[in-house]
Amino acid sequence: MINLKIISLFLIGITAVGCSSTQKITSSEPFPEDKTVQATLWVQNSAEYQALSHQAYETAKRSLSLPLEDSFWTASISQEETEAYMQLPPAIILDIDETVLDNSPFQARMIKQGTSYNSKDWKTWCMEANAEAVPGAVQFTQYAAEQGIQIFYISNRSYEVEDATRRNMIELGFPVSSEMDNIMLNGEEPGWNSSKIKRREIIEENYRVIMAFGDDLNDFFPAKNITQDKRDTYVTRYSDYFGRKWFILPNPVYGSWENAMFDFKDDLSQDERNAILQKRLDTRN
Ligand SMILES: [Mg+2]
Repeated sequence: MINLKIISLFLIGITAVGCSSTQKITSSEPFPEDKTVQATLWVQNSAEYQALSHQAYETAKRSLSLPLEDSFWTASISQEETEAYMQLPPAIILDIDETVLDNSPFQARMIKQGTSYNSKDWKTWCMEANAEAVPGAVQFTQYAAEQGIQIFYISNRSYEVEDATRRNMIELGFPVSSEMDNIMLNGEEPGWNSSKIKRREIIEENYRVIMAFGDDLNDFFPAKNITQDKRDTYVTRYSDYFGRKWFILPNPVYGSWENAMFDFKDDLSQDERNAILQKRLDTRN
């Protein structure tokens, strides 16, 4: 027994030395109870997150000549039902958050502070204009702009942070127009709300939308308040759009999928939410 104890202590000593030679782990702070911890760690630390982002943008770049040569090509569901779009110049619409800008440091702050999303802290983060680009996004948008394609960004960031957002994106090298407002934010004009419908319509009146990029179904068609079943149905119906006309970026931290999971009930207690989450874990038995 004593011998075993000595051997165990010896092994612990070796492990400790092994750790200290690479990274010193000294903090014994309890880890916060936050459901976004693993997702945030994944975004910030996995090479796989970066690879998926490159995969989306590289696939789009490789196939960009197809829509340019084909005037029938549109990535807009509503434009498909018309004909006038065929004569219009090409444009690409991208969402901003978690599509071209990586806001995972904001989430990391929330976790470390033990708080959750709130508009005040979010505004502070946006005003810092210090987000990094999603891997591959700058290179793709620059390449597309060089081909004569008009780039638009439709984001549900508030119009109040437009200057900071523009500054952040220009510094990172994104094509931001000095002649027209190609960053269209929530509340900037009447009717420009989180559904994104009105803003897409304005672009569709003047451009043939050849590709769309987002981290949320709502970036491709109105999907903010549709049920989980309907979301699944749409994804099946439009499955051949993905990787061709629509490019989706990974966001395991937040999105409209969450509200759909809770059937859009925003007055649930923590216990009620936990009970729903238990039910949503599929064990096939
Ligand atoms: Mg987004």
